[in-house]
Amino acid sequence: MFKISSELIDRELLIENIKNNHAGALVTFEGWVRDHNQGKKVSSLEYQVYAELAILEGEKILKEAVEKFNLHHIECVHRYGHLSLGDTAIWIGATATHRDDAYKASRYVIDEIKFRLPIWKKEHYVSDEAKWVFCKDHHTHVHFHEEDYYQKQSKLVDQSKLKNAKVLVVGAGGLGCPVLQSLSAAGVGEIEIVDFDTISISNIHRQFLYSPDVVGEKKAVVAANRLQAMNPFIKIKATDLQLDESNVVALTSNRDIVIDCTDNLSTKFLMHDACFINKTPLISASIYKFEGQMRTFIPGKDFGCLRCSYEKTPKDSFIGNCNDVGVLGSSVAIIGSIQANEALLFLDRGGNNTASDTLLLNLSTLEQMKLKNIKKENCQVCLGKISIEEDNLELIASEFNFNEVELIDIRDKDDSSIECYIESQKKVVLYCHRGIRSKELVASLRDRGYSHFYSLKGGARSL
Ligand SMILES: [Zn+2]
Repeated sequence: MFKISSELIDRELLIENIKNNHAGALVTFEGWVRDHNQGKKVSSLEYQVYAELAILEGEKILKEAVEKFNLHHIECVHRYGHLSLGDTAIWIGATATHRDDAYKASRYVIDEIKFRLPIWKKEHYVSDEAKWVFCKDHHTHVHFHEEDYYQKQSKLVDQSKLKNAKVLVVGAGGLGCPVLQSLSAAGVGEIEIVDFDTISISNIHRQFLYSPDVVGEKKAVVAANRLQAMNPFIKIKATDLQLDESNVVALTSNRDIVIDCTDNLSTKFLMHDACFINKTPLISASIYKFEGQMRTFIPGKDFGCLRCSYEKTPKDSFIGNCNDVGVLGSSVAIIGSIQANEALLFLDRGGNNTASDTLLLNLSTLEQMKLKNIKKENCQVCLGKISIEEDNLELIASEFNFNEVELIDIRDKDDSSIECYIESQKKVVLYCHRGIRSKELVASLRDRGYSHFYSLKGGARSL
């Protein structure tokens, strides 16, 4: 267990905690307050700690050590506050079956703690003014203060408003990456990332948070880790989940703003409806080749909603997505950056003056246009008087028996190829890459009265 403490460290008690009969070795490490540093006589030390984050990161390091080195137990205590010469500033004790593991673990833990923990050290000298110390082996944030991060923007925005904000970002792809990078760097206090996709090599040219070494890993998790490393002063949560009818209302509630960085219409409309139910502002964007668009929705204000123009959710095939038509990383990054800019200004000002129009920006010609948003009288969605019902079109892979259904891959087939299953006596479960095209196809089959068709939720990736 990792602890921070302002009290003297009790070695005997700590050893008692980790003592066990299976262990053949105990290795302890102690860091002491010494009386000199870089030619100066030191009289005492002072540690300041960002407690919440330090404990989280400390626990993470210990867990890594247990897994890496096959430990039985590990304990670590780091002091904070004022320490005298000779005091133990940090104590680490690791037990393992064999000594080699215990030695390596103790070395690993002290190195990682020095490198990763948000703990600041101030040295008091015998004949000089006290100073916060920058150690050469710490090339992280640990010796900087939070306000220094935001020095250059705090003249323009109220940092405390950003810090107190809770934002949901749906989609950690081409739009999501620049949005997340800007919001994290700017110090938005709580950011939750929802994405169920994994990273593929063809994402990296436009999704700048990822690199080839993380291909195959979950986007939400990798993004959260990288952003947290960039700004340790904010809270980032990764939610590896597909947004759907069952979770969208809960996910979009209690947020200051929701940012839509998805690339399909069914999810966009779903999120939009849920935001109007919850009265949560929404910033939505999309791009088609070089044509980007962005719109801010503010429920409760007179700016209209998507349903004022489209009562029914248009089919995804209505527009292409970047899988079909291609996209340039720089283009999508510009549109994402505009979304992030809107979000930051919205959080700072408690609203913005752009919600009456939809921005259209052509990245090939640099033509820009603002389209007045349409507001329909008595639109029920605008009034939030709608509910989101589960459509029962999808099945989850873990919830059916593969022997009892016909599981059909439609990825390389056209829609007509499923006609031969029209008379099937079994449930027919269709799947494509991500479960979006298959769901659309199932919806049209249901409209024709074929109730035995289902779509596999999450598509081929969920198998
Ligand atoms: Zn409306």
